[in-house]
Amino acid sequence: GPRGEVVLEVQGLQKSFGGLMAVAGVSFDLKRGEILALIGPNGAGKSTTFNLVAGALLPDRGQVRLFGKDITGLPPYRIHSLGLGRTFQHPHLFLELTVLENAALGTYSRTRAGFLQALLGLSRREEERALATAYRALKRVGLESLALEKAERLSVGQQRLLEIARLLASGAEVLLLDEPAAGLRAQEKRELASLLRSLAREGYTVLIVDHDMDLIMGLADRVVVMNYGEKIAEGTPKEVQRNPLVRAAYLGE
Ligand code: ADP
Ligand code: MG
Repeated sequence: GPRGEVVLEVQGLQKSFGGLMAVAGVSFDLKRGEILALIGPNGAGKSTTFNLVAGALLPDRGQVRLFGKDITGLPPYRIHSLGLGRTFQHPHLFLELTVLENAALGTYSRTRAGFLQALLGLSRREEERALATAYRALKRVGLESLALEKAERLSVGQQRLLEIARLLASGAEVLLLDEPAAGLRAQEKRELASLLRSLAREGYTVLIVDHDMDLIMGLADRVVVMNYGEKIAEGTPKEVQRNPLVRAAYLGE
């Protein structure tokens, strides 16, 4: 679809755990090709928001629309098959499988076969197609030379790249990345930022939760700041950095 089209709309999202309002009516949207960062202090409700959008949690109130379609309350695999995929703060990989096989598992989210059949074995033709797609995705993130290594051989940074490759292989166009820079060295962070920027230029849309301010400030087009479950600010990185509310809540000033 065309750049500038709204691909993800989050409207009045609310979620309590017992008496605690973890997300208190949060709204934002993302246009195709945008990188939006969700930041805020620990406990602000970032991960909960993320889980509500990806379908891992059911909202008490509010709505999530993906490409104009109401996806509120759909299970994660349905949301994924509609084009929204996520990575996890701690990579979910099969360490005994090769890098290529891990990336190939992403392709099964968009076939009828499903994950179980993927493990049980597909036809040779389906398998070849999946591996070719997976290899292209590995090339995209620069891991193709490690395709035949076991995933356990990868550094933390490479494992995060592999999770992104698996998302790309899955056909997801809206990427939710949970602290993708955690545990990365400075050089790996720069490489990650440059990969995400080039994906965004190609029309991928990125929602990133991270508290690495340097990374976010150099990467995000827009920033949503949360505190105590509420959105307290939204704007360009420069705008939110100057915002007194943000400085008080997030930077402890
Ligand atoms: P953040 O990701 O911004 O650090 P979270 O979304 O993880 O914040 O958490 C927001 C609030 O909700 C915190 O007070 C946290 O303790 C609470 N919380 C998160 N998940 C659960 C849960 N499954 N059960 C109970 N409380 C939770
Ligand atoms: Mg969190």
